[in-house]
Amino acid sequence: MEIKKVAVIGAGTMGNGIAHVFAQNNYTVILVDVSQPALDKAIATITKNLDRMVVKATITEEVKATTLKNLSTNTSLDACKDADLVVEAATENTDIKLKIFKQLDELCKPETILASNTSSISITKIGAATKRPDKVIGMHFMNPVPLMKLVEIIKGYATSAEVTAQITDCSKQLGKIPVEANDYPGFVANRILMPMINEAIQTLHEGVAGVSEIDTVMKLGMAHPMGPLQLADFIGLDVCLAILKVLHDGFGNPKYAPCPLLVNMVTAGYLGAKTGEGFYKYEAGSKELKVSSRF
Ligand code: NAD
Repeated sequence: MEIKKVAVIGAGTMGNGIAHVFAQNNYTVILVDVSQPALDKAIATITKNLDRMVVKATITEEVKATTLKNLSTNTSLDACKDADLVVEAATENTDIKLKIFKQLDELCKPETILASNTSSISITKIGAATKRPDKVIGMHFMNPVPLMKLVEIIKGYATSAEVTAQITDCSKQLGKIPVEANDYPGFVANRILMPMINEAIQTLHEGVAGVSEIDTVMKLGMAHPMGPLQLADFIGLDVCLAILKVLHDGFGNPKYAPCPLLVNMVTAGYLGAKTGEGFYKYEAGSKELKVSSRF
């Protein structure tokens, strides 16, 4: 089956970028979210990002117009029923994802591939919630999706070799570089990244150094383009906490226990860039990186 129509579920940080990249590569894309404001914000973000690309001459005005024409939005999952591929990028919560996949399995054509952009939740578990576990796969894009080349392709226990090959090809058609991983907690990317972010938060919590000192050590000392605390803000502290909990539960190893400071910040609603404050403070229109006055 040729993939032409793609549905993206969840229009948050990742969903808007995933929808953008598919639409820019001539797929017909339907972006679905339970929240109309999230859909409105996603279209505004995609338009702004396309404008920036036109200014930088990486795309033409025509490509921008076609990309936006290829995109539509909906608040109902029913809108996915004709899709050849669904990429789910809803909140990192197992119950939410299992419910979405059960519904998609009932709604979609038998041949539709159901992919998840989950950062850590078991693809095998998601597949088992459907009657087509051979067609359930992890398609883990990186943030920001239009710029980042990697797609981690996660094979669940029952994912077929054909579906893995098709999603690998599809990722290449998007201009991405796919890398295969097996289905164990955190896969490759977050199994390695999240313990580093958690350790940076623990280092701050213990008063070893301040926010900008920790980030500067990792940027200048390890040649990381962004420090781990800024990256955590960018990913979303709720997403980081959810991934650490999956690693902690999945391996049963205390080394993955989330730092209590991270738990407190998420509980209080300081989720990073998307809420305006995390380790840094984000003011609309300002490019200056300001450490939150709480630190
Ligand atoms: P987000 O919080 O920015 O957005 C999630 C969106 O999902 C929200 O707009 C919410 O309204 C929507 N949603 C919730 N329940 C829904 C439902 N039942 N149906 C439709 N929409 C629903 O989250 P995000 O950071 O974009 O993360 C999305 C997924 O991508 C998660 O699985 C996350 O682990 C993964 N991911 C995130 C990053 C990152 O850097 N943030 C990177 C790679 C992968």
